[in-house]
Amino acid sequence: MPEGHTVHRMARDHSKYLAQQIVNLSSPQGRFAQEAKRLNGKQLISASAHGKHLFYRWVNPQVVRPREIVMHVHLGLYGKFRIHKNPPPEPRGAVRVRMIGDAHTIDLNGPTRCEIMDSSQLQSLKNRLGVDPLDPQADPQKAYLRLCRSKKPIATALLDQSIIAGIGNIYRAEILHLLDLDPETPSCDLSRPQFDTLWQLTVDLFQIGVKHDRIITVDLNSINKPIRRLNKDERLTIYKKQNCPRCNSTVRKWALGARTMYACPKCQR
Ligand SMILES: [Zn+2]
Repeated sequence: MPEGHTVHRMARDHSKYLAQQIVNLSSPQGRFAQEAKRLNGKQLISASAHGKHLFYRWVNPQVVRPREIVMHVHLGLYGKFRIHKNPPPEPRGAVRVRMIGDAHTIDLNGPTRCEIMDSSQLQSLKNRLGVDPLDPQADPQKAYLRLCRSKKPIATALLDQSIIAGIGNIYRAEILHLLDLDPETPSCDLSRPQFDTLWQLTVDLFQIGVKHDRIITVDLNSINKPIRRLNKDERLTIYKKQNCPRCNSTVRKWALGARTMYACPKCQR
């Protein structure tokens, strides 16, 4: 499943390709046919992201003060977008939504959620979601208060989208390793300064992630080749590594919060 930086990057790209345009919308597969009919011919105001969720705001361009219609997408494990230059090829596989703009077409296959939301549904989803490190208005205090109430290990809490939205399995391992934090530390034991450091690191790493369109957690100053040529092993510090790059201990690997965790048993005590 893509982590937050990828979803934000998608929102940015989709805005770039389709925003302010009248979009021809359809559901070649049929499962979104009725909704697509309602959105077809509308103007896309913007695509935006919160954590791993995407929101597309549409209006009827023929109305003076149009009401917005919001399309919500969550890719889940199997969802995938394809971007084509126009004219687009025949739909490939089960295309839930096809959005044809002036010069580009975006196809969406296999999302967990693709739906139209009214304002109360949208509000309730946003209330459930945690703060997003890529949101300039984010209030980290909210995340801290939710963490304080949790006795779950910090590594499990970091995957909880209602605390911090957007962190996935790679970022949680990398963040905890960079902070020398034991993944099993109960969340409620995190001090405020520790949380503040964790939050700022997450913001910084996510911004690097969006900028370069990949997760990079090594020190950018230590890299002596073009960033886009780094392989996964060179971009990360602990995830799927055999040995800790700092002390050379064998990396511990175990299931935590239903996903595989990687940590250094020595540095992260
Ligand atoms: Zn180590």
